[in-house]
Amino acid sequence: MPRLTSAQVKDLPKEDALIILPIGATEQHGPHLPVYTDTILVETVLNEAFQHISKEENIWTLPAIPFGKSDEHMDRPGTFSFSFDTLKSILLDLSRGVQANGFRKLLLFNGHGGNIDTLKLVARQVKIETGLMVFIINVGGLTIPESIIPEEEMFMGIHGGDYETSLIMSSYPEWVHEDKLPTEVPKLAEMSKYLRFQKGNFAWTINDVSESGILGNAKLATKEKGDALYWEHGKELASCILDILEFEICKVLGDSIIQETEAGKVK
Ligand SMILES: [Zn+2]
Repeated sequence: MPRLTSAQVKDLPKEDALIILPIGATEQHGPHLPVYTDTILVETVLNEAFQHISKEENIWTLPAIPFGKSDEHMDRPGTFSFSFDTLKSILLDLSRGVQANGFRKLLLFNGHGGNIDTLKLVARQVKIETGLMVFIINVGGLTIPESIIPEEEMFMGIHGGDYETSLIMSSYPEWVHEDKLPTEVPKLAEMSKYLRFQKGNFAWTINDVSESGILGNAKLATKEKGDALYWEHGKELASCILDILEFEICKVLGDSIIQETEAGKVK
């Protein structure tokens, strides 16, 4: 959308359009990755997805928000975080703008795990307040084939490990410090059967779980893995986006619901 004029935006067919708002972060990613890692991921995966989507489709991307809620990394240099309230307000304001411009569908495409909870809360509030259809896709929620990243690594490698390092090696190789690739895996598996970072979560900041600032094994990373991940993510995201383009929330309810009333069954 940034290349369009005001008049061109006015003339877009709004009814069947999809607006995508990418959301990243600027935060420490260990001794080897740039602080812009999550914003790079969200922008690059989205660009990859557009390689699989016809230019004729009525899909428009807003500029990425390069900051997120990164208070779990607050003590480390290079972290610039919105508070929960700030991120919430920014997302609400931009969503109201999407509605004011006449659009009906908004996809929040997110590259940072620390944003997820805020996005879920805001998405429902926006839906109730504006009537927009709001969708959320997280880069971290896209399928990661085990053939590319081993299962043990995905178990704990949620920040600056094999996965993210491979992706940045693919898109910005000159920004990766290959002489400083760390490995750090917290002792959770020895301490608890169910406390992890996805299922059975607990409130943490990076100082509780990592000295180096990463979780995972960056030494496993390669550019080739990153290329393969972008390809897989691009294909999957493209198919999610096309799915969303067709989706209408008013059709979710079946038309054959039977309600029991005092007067009898009403179809
Ligand atoms: Zn990250």
